[in-house]
Amino acid sequence: MKTIHCSACRCVVTNNEVALNIKLLGKQIATVRCYACLAKALDCTVEDLHEKVAFYQSMGCSVFKEIYTTEQHTS
Ligand SMILES: [Zn+2]
Repeated sequence: MKTIHCSACRCVVTNNEVALNIKLLGKQIATVRCYACLAKALDCTVEDLHEKVAFYQSMGCSVFKEIYTTEQHTS
């Protein structure tokens, strides 16, 4: 079991959040941020990030198929 925390607010991040960080910022797991903090850093909205995740997943992006953390939102 592995839990990854947001490097900014320390909240627990989900697998998709880790994958999005890698996709947008490169493989720097140490500086992974949650959607809220990532949106602030990138000056976009959390909805924009959700759309990006959905887009990459629909493309079958391999980054989003990897398991980085066992943490999952129940949505
Ligand atoms: Zn955060």
